[in-house]
Amino acid sequence: GRKKFSRNAQTFYQPEMYTSMSNDLHTEMNLRKGIESNEFELYYQPKVNCEDGSIAGFEALIRWNHPKLGIRGPMEFIPIAESTGLIIPIGEWVITQALKQLALWDIGHRKQYTISINISSRHFLHNDFPKYLLSQMDYYKVSPSRLVIEITESVAMMEYETVKERIHYLNELGFSVSIDDFGTGFSAFVYLQHFPIKEIKIDRQFIQEIESDEKSLSITRTIINLAEQLSLRVVSEGVETIEQWEKLKMLGCHELQGFYFSKPLNIKKIEELY
Ligand code: C2E
Ligand code: MG
Ligand code: MG
Ligand code: MG
Repeated sequence: GRKKFSRNAQTFYQPEMYTSMSNDLHTEMNLRKGIESNEFELYYQPKVNCEDGSIAGFEALIRWNHPKLGIRGPMEFIPIAESTGLIIPIGEWVITQALKQLALWDIGHRKQYTISINISSRHFLHNDFPKYLLSQMDYYKVSPSRLVIEITESVAMMEYETVKERIHYLNELGFSVSIDDFGTGFSAFVYLQHFPIKEIKIDRQFIQEIESDEKSLSITRTIINLAEQLSLRVVSEGVETIEQWEKLKMLGCHELQGFYFSKPLNIKKIEELY
């Protein structure tokens, strides 16, 4: 079962909540209302091939079109969704939206791009997660190879056996699992050895300093080499300049993502552009 009200009671009495402009975002009730009123939307950011900048796929990033506060980013509401358990219905909504989008592209005979989705650790470890994924896959008749499931490094630190089994199972089904924000957690290489991961995404904090900081450059180079050795796809996040692109090309990175290519856009703009 989901822990529904226990956490809410704690947050309710935190005085700073009342002074915060985005007070409305921080209550379970509003989040629940947002889900029921269909106020969420997926934005898409292109992932490009490092070699030539051509599109390789898209990452879906959730936004909340709040009736009073406008478009809000995930950092403002995902934490409360995680602590209240509402991350499960939100994550399921994300899965359904992404698969629906892939099915629509198939009908329109668009190119066979992949969509990457972000799944919180709590949802990833939830009993119903694979079941829900499969049922939606079946309904929308999209090949599992088109969906990439991004989890953060921290997930790999939790319940080792469950995570391992789950990644193996998803892999068998044909989905690929990607480790997001790679390099920021305490985890690390031993998990890559035991989990059938397909992709790692180097966190943007390294990428944004590859020009200015020797250590960031070394870490990035090492992660790319490691990925190469393990036959993993390696993606760099947060590429903002052509200089960063050039450097990452030199280092042999496979795919890039970042404002230099495009910020996340709503589906209408994405379809106009690509
Ligand atoms: P993430 O998965 O690592 O996504 C990358 C974040 O970096 C996105 O922020 C994106 O807009 C931003 N970004 C991309 N390129 C650049 C760049 O060149 N420069 C800078 N400064 N930023 C860039 P966003 O959309 O605010 O998402 C933040 C985080 O929220 C995501 O990090 C992910 O962990 C989480 N998130 C997003 N959507 C979902 C979702 O549907 N479910 C869950 N559970 N988490 C989500
Ligand atoms: Mg991500
Ligand atoms: Mg990331
Ligand atoms: Mg991140």
